[in-house]
Amino acid sequence: MIRTKHKIEYSPEKCVGCQLCYKACFVDVIRWDAEKKRPVFKYVSDCEHCFYCEAVCAKGAIRVVPDYASEHMGQHFEQYA
Ligand code: SF4
Ligand code: SF4
Repeated sequence: MIRTKHKIEYSPEKCVGCQLCYKACFVDVIRWDAEKKRPVFKYVSDCEHCFYCEAVCAKGAIRVVPDYASEHMGQHFEQYA
């Protein structure tokens, strides 16, 4: 099993509930809490560290912190060895 420790730092006080991060994530890491009008970072271990969510957030409420030392990244690099 691939285990990763990717982190997504989220600052709710900066968030304006625009949903752009939720719509940007193509691997279902980010779900939407309709009641609280805020993103929920549900499956962070599946994050592909594309940084789209961080890039689209005009409020700087998201910071993606990939786990570069994980097995997952190692597998990517082994393809080119
Ligand atoms: S893109 Fe930023 S401001 Fe918009 S919902 Fe996501 S975290 Fe909040
Ligand atoms: S970095 Fe990419 S894959 Fe990871 S949560 Fe953000 S949009 Fe989704």
